[in-house]
Amino acid sequence: MAPLKRRVVLVPYPFQGHLTPMLQLAALLHRRGFSITVAHTRFNSPTTSNYPQFAFAALSDGLEGRDMSFYNALNVISEMNANCQASFREHLLHVLEEEGEELVCVIYDNIMKFVDVVADSLNLPTIVLRTTAAAFMHSHLALFDLAAHKRIPLPECELELPVPNLHPLRYNDLPLHPTREIPESVQEFLESYMNIRSSAAVIWNTVEALDEWPLQQLQRQWPVPFFTIGPLHKMAPPLPTSLIEEDTMCLSWLDKRAPGSVIYVSLGSMAIIDEDELCEMARGLARSEQPFLWVVRTSLLNGSDAIASLPGDFGDVVRGRGLVVEWAPQRKVLEHPAVGGFFTHCGWNSTLESLCEGVPMICRPCFADQLVNARYLTHVWGVGVELGSVVEKGVEEAVRMLMKSDCGREMRERAAGMKLEIERCMGRGGSSSESLDHLLEFVDSL
Ligand code: UDP
Repeated sequence: MAPLKRRVVLVPYPFQGHLTPMLQLAALLHRRGFSITVAHTRFNSPTTSNYPQFAFAALSDGLEGRDMSFYNALNVISEMNANCQASFREHLLHVLEEEGEELVCVIYDNIMKFVDVVADSLNLPTIVLRTTAAAFMHSHLALFDLAAHKRIPLPECELELPVPNLHPLRYNDLPLHPTREIPESVQEFLESYMNIRSSAAVIWNTVEALDEWPLQQLQRQWPVPFFTIGPLHKMAPPLPTSLIEEDTMCLSWLDKRAPGSVIYVSLGSMAIIDEDELCEMARGLARSEQPFLWVVRTSLLNGSDAIASLPGDFGDVVRGRGLVVEWAPQRKVLEHPAVGGFFTHCGWNSTLESLCEGVPMICRPCFADQLVNARYLTHVWGVGVELGSVVEKGVEEAVRMLMKSDCGREMRERAAGMKLEIERCMGRGGSSSESLDHLLEFVDSL
């Protein structure tokens, strides 16, 4: 008799920074012999034809016509959780009836909390995939502590103070600014986000050497096995994960630049800035006199076309030196020898992708985990320049400092050291590679 196919169902949260590591984990598990189903929302559905090796199940998310902007995220999450449950249950029942297959477990992003409810009712084990650093998750505890001690709203003057037992974070770096009351709906969301429910384990897209202390602290909160197997984009076989079409022409543009000369600028898939900041960035990049590749996503400004909002003379001023694209093949860009620095919003994927290539960063965090990541980049790992308040001079100076000064050179050297350290963690006997072996044993034992 043919051996049973061992199937794992994975459920991503449908935004780029969450979808990418889930697909990479799927590819990693597939390479190790598991059959894979990705159960996904119709909104931001992965391009299924890119992954003939996986099966897909489209969930009825009921999101058509909804406002999917960042500002409506909590409503969307709540609707998605209510709407997807029935079709997910139906799908799992269907897989359970499949002959010659064994459904081993469900791995999910725990914003998709309906997954655990359904899996639990069918006696199926679940595992949470955490797509952020442990340091970010750990920082929520400080926020809960402030709320429990009725210290919110915290006076503005305390924002710069260090959070006790949370080095290197200041109150300013917490996931929400504690100077404002936290609305009940947000508090509920954060508590749910910090709850692993009945899950049997947590998989982390992080590296032990980067995140050891927060991981240890969280292990006390969640006494289940942790598998720290990042960075997934390097641990998994390469695969396309982009939801937006990539402008690959920028790679041939990079081919013509001197090694280490280009600053790559991107604020990820969700951050929104205002028109003043967009123009300040444009002028700062122009005055820095440094070659740059800038991702100006259409949705970078709330409501108006970002590229059309660039200063009128910008194209002429930077001609031959700067390139603007709507979306780049970022991992390939960061690997390119011409790239010497990354002006980033410090999303966790971008942070890991940059660290893995030894590229130092200018940090312009916008919200949530980006604040924590930026603080680690600038104050622990010493591979990031903090962009203070974004004024024109700030951008120009930060670019010159990173790309041209001794201080920038030292950061580049430290970044090169971190790249080697991460490679060591991924290599034979390293923490990520051992943790992956333990994860596979664990899944086999379920
Ligand atoms: N990304 C990309 N092209 C771009 C900008 C970003 O492919 O022009 C990718 C990037 O490689 C990363 C992801 O989008 O994997 C962004 O995730 P991150 O966690 O950094 O930030 P988020 O978009 O979630 O804020």
